[in-house]
Amino acid sequence: MLKYVNTGIVFQEIPDEVTLAINISNCPCHCPGCHSHYLWDDIGLPLDTDAIDAFIEKYGTDITCLSFMGGDADPAGVNQLAQYIHETYPQFKVAWYSGRIRLSSAVNKQDFNYIKIGPYIKHLGPLKSPTTNQHLYRQRADGEFEDITYRFWRQQDMAI
Ligand code: SF4
Repeated sequence: MLKYVNTGIVFQEIPDEVTLAINISNCPCHCPGCHSHYLWDDIGLPLDTDAIDAFIEKYGTDITCLSFMGGDADPAGVNQLAQYIHETYPQFKVAWYSGRIRLSSAVNKQDFNYIKIGPYIKHLGPLKSPTTNQHLYRQRADGEFEDITYRFWRQQDMAI
């Protein structure tokens, strides 16, 4: 079962959105430079449709997007919750920060508005680094995904 440790409203993880980031535990990726070791353990509260309902009731007027931060141990479970949000609360966008190099075949990416893929590799840096190995994709109106990683970079970084 998916579990989450905590949540927070964030402004930079998904461009142009006010996002409720849901930090999911039991991360199987074990990136060498991991900045969130506490998410490796199978701890926290159940992340199910009841939890989603409670988040929407509490934060619904403050956010435009919900983002699953992790959950790679159960990609089908993340996908089910993404479907649930879109069917029950269609006014919200859904994002997923995955630490995998590729998306699991158990996932229908059309159920997500944004998908970030890639493990954290310290010397390449996070999304805001122009040398990053990670990518953030946004689903366009035609269903195709475009790479919007550049939105995290400052103009002076891109000129190097
Ligand atoms: S995906 Fe995130 S939480 Fe998991 S090991 Fe990598 S950096 Fe840590």
